[in-house]
Amino acid sequence: MENCLFCKIIAGEIPSTVEYEDEYIYAFKDINPVAPVHTLVVPKKHICCLDGLCDEDEALMGKVMLGIKKVASKYEECKDGYRVINNCGENGGQTVMHLHFHIIGGTKLDEKLI
Ligand code: AMP
Ligand code: ZN
Repeated sequence: MENCLFCKIIAGEIPSTVEYEDEYIYAFKDINPVAPVHTLVVPKKHICCLDGLCDEDEALMGKVMLGIKKVASKYEECKDGYRVINNCGENGGQTVMHLHFHIIGGTKLDEKLI
């Protein structure tokens, strides 16, 4: 999609530090990490947010979730656990409108909202 930051990153038009890539997903380091491990996992298909999912994305979302597990398993720092976060929409604090999941780990995450 034109003018989507993460689509440009996936296309290689904007540099990123890639951590994993396959047919369905792209994982890269967050530019502003909040923990020793902070990686974003995105579907290569442009989907604006969780609310933008449709029934035909069901299998793709399985790939995304298994991809998150695969990416997290690469990090020794995540062997004792990690957190996966999705911010959805304005009230959810989403700033980039291409569906993405944050993998955060490498430290004890004490600030729990839930
Ligand atoms: P969210 O606030 O959930 O929409 O998350 C967007 C994330 O994208 C933030 O954590 C940003 O630090 C990250 N981000 C923004 N621009 C880039 C970029 N060029 N490369 C990597 N991460 C980015
Ligand atoms: Zn996009």
